[in-house]
Amino acid sequence: MTAVFNKPFTLQEPIEETGIAKALEILKSGKLHRYNTAPGETGEAALLEEEFAAYMGKKYCLSCASCGSAMYIALKAAGVAPGDKVLCNAYTLAPVPGAIQNCGARIELVEIVEDYTIDLDDLDAKAKGAQWLLLSHMRGHITDMDRIMEICTAHDITLIEDCAHTMGAAWDGQKSGSFGIAGCYSTQTYKHMNSGEGGLLVTDDDELMARAIIYSGSYMLYERHTARPPMAVFEKIKMAVPNYSSRMDNLRAAILRPQLRRLDDQCRRWNQRYDFLAKGLGKIPGIFVPERNPKEKYVGSSIQFSLTDQPPEIIQAFLTTCLDRGVELKWFGSTEPIGFTSAYGSWQYFKDLPVLPNTDRILAVMCDMRIPLTFDLDDCDLILNIIKDTASQILKL
Ligand SMILES: *Cc1c(COP(=O)(O)O)cnc(C)c1O
Repeated sequence: MTAVFNKPFTLQEPIEETGIAKALEILKSGKLHRYNTAPGETGEAALLEEEFAAYMGKKYCLSCASCGSAMYIALKAAGVAPGDKVLCNAYTLAPVPGAIQNCGARIELVEIVEDYTIDLDDLDAKAKGAQWLLLSHMRGHITDMDRIMEICTAHDITLIEDCAHTMGAAWDGQKSGSFGIAGCYSTQTYKHMNSGEGGLLVTDDDELMARAIIYSGSYMLYERHTARPPMAVFEKIKMAVPNYSSRMDNLRAAILRPQLRRLDDQCRRWNQRYDFLAKGLGKIPGIFVPERNPKEKYVGSSIQFSLTDQPPEIIQAFLTTCLDRGVELKWFGSTEPIGFTSAYGSWQYFKDLPVLPNTDRILAVMCDMRIPLTFDLDDCDLILNIIKDTASQILKL
């Protein structure tokens, strides 16, 4: 069989009509800036914050220009100071080390294990002398959060979560992003809600949120936020926090609000596709799909698998052959960083990056595929067949 798959892997669903109608209304009014509101009026950005805080069961939420800016602001607002050591799993995306560097902090990279999550033993070993953990649930893989909390408590480490791929996900019934002092989310086009660019930060901490709001660029207009701590909290700090100008605007918030109402349903749709693909891929000789922990409620908006023991030239041939038939896979093991994939060796703005043999070995054979909701189960079936054909043709078993 030589059928070719011809749908793009980067095509998301359209913005729904209610979002478009609201966006048009805002465009016609010219009132795009979040603080461009009449007295007593609550703008779209503030409403989105209220609704996302409620969805997360958190007291406060701040919308930002991106998840990267939300993480940077969360780290600063939590108290990360220049020179501090921030632990972080080595398998993550470039905006994560970027947020740490932006704070002037040092990064301590932690190994990963076969299921792509952080190596908890390596974390425990490196925890001494660290005050902070920026845990990235990279590609939606959630580690054992019970052990994370044990390690953080034992070493007095403050946890901040990067939930760019775990919006809507949970561990043992508790929402991802609600374990740490702050959780950060992305609304960039390829994440779980789409406003082109955008970020959300949630916390229950009064001072953290007051600082975060001012850092984000509220000027002295923070009273117009409605998912915020009492005004007295701002009074104490309002002259002590700089403005990093990283706000979200009303236009983006307006198209996100209807998406939030559908988020859980979208997550269910992702998992139909993910579970179908994971089951099929797992049966292909030479392909390893790690089991998910039963406590993990993941959102399968992308899928990762390993071509265990295959040499680089075979993996390259496998990827090229899949691509010839329209199946676009990313490879975390390529020597040059390509597209969005990012290996920790590329972050050379940090001095003395370590060598992490286990992470290197795992990334060397790891493939990655987006699962846009514009694909249906028939599409997934064709993709599986193409990968299966290619594997039997190319892989050395
Ligand atoms: C996309 C992504 C980010 C950054 O999100 P932006 O909104 O683009 O800044 C951070 N972490 C992970 C794991 C991501 O996939």
